[in-house]
Amino acid sequence: MLRAILFDFNGVLVDDEPVHLELFQRVLKEVGIEVSAGEYYEELVGYDDEDCFTAVCKRSGRKLPDGELERLVARKAELYRQRMDGGGYPFFPGAEDLVRAAIGASLHLGVVSGALRAEVEGALEQLGVRGSFKAVVAAEDVQAGKPDPEGYRRGLQLLSSEPPLPSRLLHPHEVLAIEDTPAGLAAAAGSGRVTLGVAHTLPAEELTPADKVVGSIAEVDLPQIRALFARPLGGNEGGHHYRPLGGNEGGHHYRPLGGNEGGHH
Ligand SMILES: [Mg+2]
Repeated sequence: MLRAILFDFNGVLVDDEPVHLELFQRVLKEVGIEVSAGEYYEELVGYDDEDCFTAVCKRSGRKLPDGELERLVARKAELYRQRMDGGGYPFFPGAEDLVRAAIGASLHLGVVSGALRAEVEGALEQLGVRGSFKAVVAAEDVQAGKPDPEGYRRGLQLLSSEPPLPSRLLHPHEVLAIEDTPAGLAAAAGSGRVTLGVAHTLPAEELTPADKVVGSIAEVDLPQIRALFARPLGGNEGGHHYRPLGGNEGGHHYRPLGGNEGGHH
């Protein structure tokens, strides 16, 4: 039974992946490193800023001096903040409707994101729904970013421990995760969540590890989501099973930086 939803943030609720790409390119260019859109969408999307900068610098053979990684992350965060202060957070059509329907149905809600906490909270405050989200797990809250499942584990803990407390502890399989990238889906599936992929950022075929994939968040409503929980998932009799991260039959495989077989936009 569906009792909670954990939303990814960038590329699921907020249509800002092109902004992140542009700002990565701008900040990296300032230190003499180029990153292409293809590389970003093929290799980096879904990772937090620290992991993105680290991966690109490693690929470039660049050894960052002490404090430089933190400076790059802070520089990009400042540019992102200026952009959002200017125009507000661009929510995807349908995102606010789904959030409000979930609030109306008294589901437990959270965000599990590689974005910075101020960004997630600022966006939720823009909609006036921050108080309805019990769990906000942001980049600062985890040791290991997606595809590691740590953030989703933390999100479930918060849903079960923050008031208003659920009548009984939430089971991982009672929680839907909505994600737009293979890294996010791996993190969610690795912690036992039921997963919905939204093809906002990547083509639907890149999201096949999800239990269900839709073209956009505007295409789903709560009855459809509840239906996902009413039948066995993932082709396993008896329900959903933990999937290993990375190498599973038919799933997405992480490719090392540099070896890309054509980008997708
Ligand atoms: Mg995302």
